[in-house]
Amino acid sequence: MPHTVRVPAEAATTQMGLSEPPAGMLRGMRGGAVLRLKRTARRGRRHPWIFKGDVADVADVDAGAEVSVVESGGHFVGRGFYNPGPALCCRIVTWRDEPLDSALWRRRIETAVEYRRRIIGQTTAVRLVWSEADGLPGLIVDRYGDVLVVQCLTLGMFRVRADIVRALHTMVGDLPVFNVDEPVPAGLEGFAPLRGWLDTPGPARAVVEEAGAVGPVRLGVTFGVGHKTGLYLDQRDNRRHVSALAAGRDVLDAFAYSAGFTCHALAAGAGGAVCIESSAEAAELARENLMLNGAFERATLLTENAFDALRRLEREHRRFGLVVLDPPPFARGRAAVEAARRGYKEINLRSMRLLEPGGILATFSCSHHVTSDDFEDICRDAAADAGVTLRTRDILAQSADHPVLLDVPETRYLKGLLLERMS
Ligand code: SAH
Repeated sequence: MPHTVRVPAEAATTQMGLSEPPAGMLRGMRGGAVLRLKRTARRGRRHPWIFKGDVADVADVDAGAEVSVVESGGHFVGRGFYNPGPALCCRIVTWRDEPLDSALWRRRIETAVEYRRRIIGQTTAVRLVWSEADGLPGLIVDRYGDVLVVQCLTLGMFRVRADIVRALHTMVGDLPVFNVDEPVPAGLEGFAPLRGWLDTPGPARAVVEEAGAVGPVRLGVTFGVGHKTGLYLDQRDNRRHVSALAAGRDVLDAFAYSAGFTCHALAAGAGGAVCIESSAEAAELARENLMLNGAFERATLLTENAFDALRRLEREHRRFGLVVLDPPPFARGRAAVEAARRGYKEINLRSMRLLEPGGILATFSCSHHVTSDDFEDICRDAAADAGVTLRTRDILAQSADHPVLLDVPETRYLKGLLLERMS
C-alpha cells in the first residue's frame, strides 16, 4: 500500500508534508490533493491512465475526488479524478493546472459537439462524447434523435453528472436524458449504476435515421433495452460503406444484434439476407428494424448460436455474395487471447467457405487485446485452412464519432477487413 499524505491547499505551494520533492518544485500548482507518481511510473507522454502500481503516494481524499498528479520530482503532470478502488485509479482530465469545474465541462462538451457537426453526415444517432477521446475520461454521451443517453464509467464522472448535463443542455437544448450506467464498471468504481430518466422523462422509444448507401435507413431504439446505449454506433460508417457493395448479392449477417447491417444491405438492393443472432432480445429488435424498413420478407432471422449456424450453412453448401461477421469481443482479457484467436479463426474460416467467387467478407474484431496485425494474421490462417485466396479491398475501423487519440492506443479498438474472394 502506498503511504498517504494529505497536502492541504495552502501547503501545496510550500510543499509542507512532503519529504520529496525539493522546495520550489510544486510552485505554481493550485492547491488541493496531490497524487505523486513513482520514479519508475511508465506513462505515455499524454496518456491519461494511472494505475495503482504507478503511485508513490496520494493524499487521503474521498474516492472520486479531484487530484493534481505530479511526477516523483514534483513536476506538475495534470489533474484528474482519483479512486483508490480500481486498479486504474486515476484518469487525467486536463494537462493544465486548472480546476475540474463546470467551465471545463462546458468547453470540453462544446468541442466534442462541434467536432461531430464537422464530421458526421446525415444521421440522427451520434456519439457526442467518447470518454478519453474527447478529454472526458469515464463519460459517454450519445444522441438518439431528441434524446440524450449518458453513461458514467467512473465515480468522478458520476459525481459531476449534473454539471455535465447542464453543459450538454447549453449546447444542444433541453433534451431529456436517459442514464445507462453499466453495472460492471460502476461496481469496480463503487457507485450504484443509474438506469432511467434524469429529471424529465422522455419517450420510451425513438426511431433514428442513418445515412445509407442509397437512402436513409431507420433503426429503432428502446431506451434501457439492448446493448450499449441502444445501437452499435461504432459500426455506423461501416454499415453504409459495406452496404454500398450489397446490390444484387445474397447477404449473411452473423452476430447481427438489431440487424443494422442487414437493413442497410437490403435497402441498398441486396437480393435477400440471412441474419444470425443468439440473443432472443436482440433478435426481437432485429425483427422490428426489418419491419421498419419494409425488409422483413426478404430476410430470414435465425435466433441461434452463430458457430452452429455457420457450420450448418456450410454443410448445406449455401453460398453468399456478402458476409458480415461482427462478433462480440472474444478476448476480454490478455489471458483469453489464445481462445479468442481460435474463435475468430473458426468463424472466419467458415464464412470464407460460404463466399461465392467474387463474394465479399466484412470481418471485424472489437477485442482490445487482439491487435490489427493479430487479426490480419488470424484471417490469413483461416484463408489458408479454407483454401481460398482473398484480396483486401479495404481496411475498416470504428465510426468517425469514436475518434482515436494518438497517445491512447486503446481508443483504437474496432478493426475490420473487407476481403474479396478471388478463387
Ligand atoms: N453488427 C451489429 C452489432 C453486433 S454486436 C450492429 O451493427 O448493430 C455482437 C452481437 O453478437 C450481439 O448482439 C450478441 O448478442 C451477438 N452474439 C454473441 N454471441 C453470439 C453467438 N455465439 N452467436 C450469435 N450471436 C451472438
